[in-house]
Amino acid sequence: MLRRKPKEKERSKVPIPDELRAAIQEAFYIIKASKRDPDVQVNYGDAIQVLPWLIGGRVGSKKRPFEFTYHIGGERSNCWHLGLHSLDIEDIADGRMTELTLYCCRTPDCGHKTSDPEFLCNCDYENDPYFGHIEVADTVEALSRCGITGISETSTKAQIILALGPPKESGCDSYGDAFDHVPPWIKYERNHCQFHFQFDGSGRLRKLTIMEADWKPGI
Ligand SMILES: [Zn+2]
Repeated sequence: MLRRKPKEKERSKVPIPDELRAAIQEAFYIIKASKRDPDVQVNYGDAIQVLPWLIGGRVGSKKRPFEFTYHIGGERSNCWHLGLHSLDIEDIADGRMTELTLYCCRTPDCGHKTSDPEFLCNCDYENDPYFGHIEVADTVEALSRCGITGISETSTKAQIILALGPPKESGCDSYGDAFDHVPPWIKYERNHCQFHFQFDGSGRLRKLTIMEADWKPGI
C-alpha cells in the first residue's frame, strides 16, 4: 500500500508563467461576476474552471480562501497547487504580482509546486508492502519493522492482549450482513502507527492492518 513519506521541498520564488496569469485573469472575472450574479457560484472545489489550465474555488482557509490546481501547459499530469487570497488574484491579474513563493518538489521531471508546504505530490508516497492490509504471512515482519515483537500469525486475541496490554479500542465491525458472523477486533497505537487486529470466531488472528496514527476510516 502507498505510504506517506513526505520529502523536503525547496522554498523559492517562482516567476508566474504567462498562461497562468491569463488563466487567473479569467478566474478574476468569474469571481467579480459572482459578486453581482447569484447564478455564478465560486464556493466549491471546481466552481472556477479556466480549461485546460486552471480549476478551483473558494474552499480554503481565511488567509488563502481560493484554492486552484494549475495544469502546466494544460497537461493533466503536471500541476501546481495554489492557495490565493482575492487580493493576490487581483494583483496577479493586473500584472503587479510577478512571482509566487512556492514549495517545489525536488524530484527531477516532477515539477510539482505548491503554496502550502503540507500539500503532498505523488513523490511523497512510497509503496510499502508492510503497511496497510498486511498479508497474514508477513505479520511478524510488518510488526517488527514497527518495533513490536512477540506476536505471530498464529497468535490469538488473548495472547496479543497479554503481549501488548489492554487495547486502546475494541469492538465488532457492524457493516456487512447482520446475520454474518461479526469478527471482533482490537486496536493499539504505538510508534506513530495504529494496529488493527481482527480475529475469527475462535479468537485466531485473521487480519492485521497498520496505518498512520492520524488515519481515520473513510479518509
Ligand atoms: Zn513530486
